[in-house]
Amino acid sequence: MVGMDNSGLAELLTVASEGTEGHLQRALRRAGRHAMTWPVEAAELALTGEMQSLDGIGPSLEKIILRWLEEDEPVPTPPETRAGFLTLTRVRRILAGHPDLRLKGDLHSHTVWSDGGVTVAELAALSEAQGMKYQAITDHSKGLKIAGGLDEEQLIRQGYEIEDVNERYAADGFRLLRSIEMNISPTGEGDMERESLAGLDLVLGSFHSKLRLKEDQTERYLAALRNPDLHILGHPQGRMWNFRTGLHADWRRVFAEAALLGKAVEIDAFPDRQDLKVELLEVAFEEGCLISIGSDAHWPGQIGFVEFGLAAALEAGIPAGRILNLKEAGELIEWAAELRDAN
Ligand SMILES: [Zn+2]
Ligand SMILES: [Zn+2]
Repeated sequence: MVGMDNSGLAELLTVASEGTEGHLQRALRRAGRHAMTWPVEAAELALTGEMQSLDGIGPSLEKIILRWLEEDEPVPTPPETRAGFLTLTRVRRILAGHPDLRLKGDLHSHTVWSDGGVTVAELAALSEAQGMKYQAITDHSKGLKIAGGLDEEQLIRQGYEIEDVNERYAADGFRLLRSIEMNISPTGEGDMERESLAGLDLVLGSFHSKLRLKEDQTERYLAALRNPDLHILGHPQGRMWNFRTGLHADWRRVFAEAALLGKAVEIDAFPDRQDLKVELLEVAFEEGCLISIGSDAHWPGQIGFVEFGLAAALEAGIPAGRILNLKEAGELIEWAAELRDAN
């Protein structure tokens, strides 16, 4: 009954869904996705008969899983769209080996100002309750219309709201950082006036288009990193679990350029993204660039996803000194300001 972890079950459930249809297909597919974020190994719950406490598991799926565990069903090698993802249980095991390491903040999150489901004040409360000392608000910029991206004027108004909330937390040692997830064109340009970005604590920039190209995209990454307004390159690969493999590039060159410029590449820790993946983080480690971790939270309960990012960084051997989120807010702002002056 042992030996099958949630990552194997996620794959088995997803593969099984492909061979069925209708209600069962949807249930299997949903459970396969949920398996990534189950808080305990399903195999452990099988012993106590509590498997139905897991998201997505009802009586019929429990029966299927019990049979797999019983028969030690072989897990097929996942296709590229599902390869290299950590499960929450694995993440927790990795973090348990580093009990002294705690992230000081989260550097990627959304509010109702763009496509998130929480207000600025709610996000601050959630983040502080999670033990963070800072939370960067990175709503989308105007080029990403589908996500309700902010224009320059809205960004200024959002800034006032953030200032108000920060005043309330001034005595608690918690603060929101003013940032943005700027939409970067495939040629590396941003979509916001430079002056409006100068008022922010830091600028995250991400690609949201042409994410399925098969050709090498190294030049696109180099151009984005050389964009003088950008501090952090968000979800670099653009991969999405069971949906998209992400772009191809000479990653060694990309990370070497980031290191040369003193900029950071992100681990978008949203479970479906986990982008950069561990395998590429190992290259980033060798090239010496800075790493930023962001939950990419849009809704309550998602800030905790930063755990996936920290675990991935640790798996890749990234030293603490290279992880932005282990720095104090003041140090971070100083780093961003220095980069801005250098450009
Ligand atoms: Zn994004
Ligand atoms: Zn985002």
